[in-house]
Amino acid sequence: MARARPGGHVLAATLRRILCIAAHPDDNEFTIGGTVARWAREGRHVTFCLVTTGGAGINEHTPSNENLIPIRERESRAAARILGVKELVFLGYADGTLEPTLAMRRDLTRVVRRVRPDVVLCGDPTVRYYGNEYLNHPDHRAVADAALDAVFPSSETGAIFPELLAEGLQPHKVKQVFIGGSLAPDTFVDIAATLATKCRALKAHRSQVGAGKWVDQLLKSWALRDGQRGGLRYAEAFKRMVLG
Ligand SMILES: [Zn+2]
Repeated sequence: MARARPGGHVLAATLRRILCIAAHPDDNEFTIGGTVARWAREGRHVTFCLVTTGGAGINEHTPSNENLIPIRERESRAAARILGVKELVFLGYADGTLEPTLAMRRDLTRVVRRVRPDVVLCGDPTVRYYGNEYLNHPDHRAVADAALDAVFPSSETGAIFPELLAEGLQPHKVKQVFIGGSLAPDTFVDIAATLATKCRALKAHRSQVGAGKWVDQLLKSWALRDGQRGGLRYAEAFKRMVLG
C-alpha cells in the first residue's frame, strides 16, 4: 500500500528557478526561509534580490549604523549559504525610505529578465498592518508593489522599458508568484524539515538579532500558526498566483 504523501504544497518539478525579492537583508529569513531551504534542497536554483542593504537597521544590538552596510552584506551572504541560496543581488537602495517608483520597477524587471525565474516570491503590498501590533514596514509594501508590477506586465512585455532590450534582456514570463504575508493565504508549504535551518539562517543576522535566543521560539510559533491554517505541523503560508 502506498504511503500517504505528506501534506502541503509540492512545487512542480518543472519549476526550477526561484527568485525571492525583499526589501531588507533579513526579510526572507523571517518570512520564507523554510520554503527557500526546502526548495534549495530539492535542487532548485534560488536567487535573492535585496532592494536595500539594511543601512537603517539600528537596534539594541547595533546602536549605530556606521559601517553597517558591509556587515549586513556579510550576514546576508552567510544566511543565504545556510539556506542553500545560490545567488544574491543587492540593488543598493536606501533603507527606510523606499517608494514603488518606476525606477525600482525597471531595476526589478532587469533582475527578473536576467535571472529568468519560473517562480517569484515577494510580500503582499496590500497589507497595511498585521493584528494590533505590527504596522507593515513601508519598504515591504513598496518592494512588494514594484515586484508584482515587474513580474506583470513589465518582465514579459518587450515594449515596456525598451532600454532593457537594448541591454540584451529579452522578455520573460514568470509562471507562478508566491505572495508571503498574505491575510488570505491559499497555499501552505510544509517546513517541518527546514524550520531549524530557517532559524539558523535568521541567527546569521547578528547585527539584528544579537545572540538570537528568541529566534527559535518566534519562528516556531509562526510556523505552528501557519501550519494550523494549512493542516500541517509547521508551514509557511502564501497566496499563490498561477500566471501560465
Ligand atoms: Zn524588513
